[in-house]
Amino acid sequence: MRVSIPHMGHLYIPLKAMFQRLGIDYVIPPVNSQRTLSLGSRYSPEGLCIPFKMTLGNMIESAEMGANAVLMPGGYGICRLGYYTRVQEQILHNLGYDFEVIQIGVSDRKFFGAMDMLKRVSNNAPWHRILSAFRFALAKLSTVDQIEQMTQKVRPVELVQGTANQLYAKAVHAIDNTDDYDTLKRTKADYLRQLNEVVKNKQARPLVVGITGEFYVVLEPFSSFDIERELGKLGVEVRRATYISGWTKFSYFLNPFGINEKSRIHKAARPYLKRDIGGDGWESVGEKVLHAKEYDGLIHLAPFTCMPEIIAENIMPSTKEQIPVLTILCDEQIAKAGVLTRLEAFVDLLERKRRKQNNVLRVTA
Ligand code: SF4
Repeated sequence: MRVSIPHMGHLYIPLKAMFQRLGIDYVIPPVNSQRTLSLGSRYSPEGLCIPFKMTLGNMIESAEMGANAVLMPGGYGICRLGYYTRVQEQILHNLGYDFEVIQIGVSDRKFFGAMDMLKRVSNNAPWHRILSAFRFALAKLSTVDQIEQMTQKVRPVELVQGTANQLYAKAVHAIDNTDDYDTLKRTKADYLRQLNEVVKNKQARPLVVGITGEFYVVLEPFSSFDIERELGKLGVEVRRATYISGWTKFSYFLNPFGINEKSRIHKAARPYLKRDIGGDGWESVGEKVLHAKEYDGLIHLAPFTCMPEIIAENIMPSTKEQIPVLTILCDEQIAKAGVLTRLEAFVDLLERKRRKQNNVLRVTA
């Protein structure tokens, strides 16, 4: 069996590390591109959401590279993610590929779903090797996320635009190539130091914008028009609660007590939405309520036709915790130029709001 994975941000890095440590035959599809989206859109039912189309595009590209199986998160949640794997497998069969879509039951079996999948694709490797590979993969994941968080802080205040992005790209490459804990630790310290030393505008007080919305589009830059980098270019500091390492460590796999950031977010959403509505709709409402005082504005990323995010979008204007929200629908029909114009207008609005608040404070002081 030669396995593959769909892309979602830098998730390929820990998965690749696990495959290598367990001696699994694998291929990583090319990074997401217009071709991936075109392939996925061409063979998907039109009304499906962009995560389905992008991951189908990845599967077709993987099949072209010789893969005959793909690992795909799934489960029995409320939204249509639960149907993805069977429908995608059928489409691939109709296209003539002898391809198996292996569902990882992350929503129902969590840690144990991932372990069963690894046992199977590693040809029954012993548990101690599986656990050791899994642990190393988590260490890589957490390192990339920490570097990314630091990059988000540096981007809006760097004097030479693009420096943080270059360092981030180099760090991701270096982390991908590390093969032991010591090198990983050194790589992390080295890039955090370099990011710290980037020459910055010390007077800058950047606007802070939160990013919320559906998990896939929040984490996969191609599907969200690389919105975080674009905001960085406009001098905005981006904050988001969703990182893959946080999700794996606390929300799904290793959180026996259920006390985590997600619980806080759900509690915050409760006056307006009392239960899970599938996908990340509950979290989108909760993040607006929870962070309304910390952020200057919020960008809500929603795949076109995603019911949980449509519900969240409609609840957000009626919360008493007020903060400007820009909802951006992500779909193959939306052009990046249009998104950039809306981003610029949104940032302009936030700057005016902050100037007005500062004037009021000066007058009352
Ligand atoms: S949450 Fe929305 S975009 Fe994600 S799989 Fe479900 S319906 Fe599709």
